[in-house]
Amino acid sequence: MSLRENKEDLKELVEKLNFKEKVERSKELIMQAYKIYGDSLVVANSLGKDSVVVWDLAMRVEPKIRGFIVTTRFKPPETIKFMHEVVAHYPQLEVYKSDIQIPERLYETNPDRCCDLLKVGPVKQALLELGVKCWVTGLRCTEGRTRTDYQEIEERDKGLIKLNPILIWKEREVWQYAALYGVKVNPLYAEGYRSLGCAPCTKITSDENERAGRWIGTSKCGGECGIHTRPLRT
Ligand code: SF4
Repeated sequence: MSLRENKEDLKELVEKLNFKEKVERSKELIMQAYKIYGDSLVVANSLGKDSVVVWDLAMRVEPKIRGFIVTTRFKPPETIKFMHEVVAHYPQLEVYKSDIQIPERLYETNPDRCCDLLKVGPVKQALLELGVKCWVTGLRCTEGRTRTDYQEIEERDKGLIKLNPILIWKEREVWQYAALYGVKVNPLYAEGYRSLGCAPCTKITSDENERAGRWIGTSKCGGECGIHTRPLRT
């Protein structure tokens, strides 16, 4: 399977491949990309379950791979504590955070703008400063309504490759990997969260949709912060 020539039906693969085959496929994708991009391949780590699994996969492929974390002033204290623990273990993870002044409660009045300033901005900065040609994410196509049409390898921004190595994994397989490979996850999952973000915009729900607890009560409900939808090379 070559990175660029991959024309397989991903929706079919979600059901067809077993857990072990998916793990092997993900590692192979990271390995192939690392051979091409070397140090300009960097893993984005949001500290969610998908990200920590992708980071663990990358570390098994090549421990020299670099990564970055984007955090905000609104992350829950549990996430901040977890971030410090992860960074203590993996000092090669660079942390990016915007201290820009924003109107109070912007997350209520204009969550798109708030995410743009506090999340998308620092991602752009990280990609620029780290000289990234290929960034690796924890996107999964079964995660919610906004995540169904991605590819394992994409070029949404010219000259910037995006690798989504666990795109075809189901939520259960992410937990299966974390359990089997001893990957530590954010303790907030034990409270019942299924998708984690900033405190004001993340709730526990029993909805079928994994991302339903994000931005409840806004037009962004169950949607995206913009990191995967906005241009990153502007
Ligand atoms: S998730 Fe909420 S608080 Fe965090 S940046 Fe987006 S709108 Fe702002």
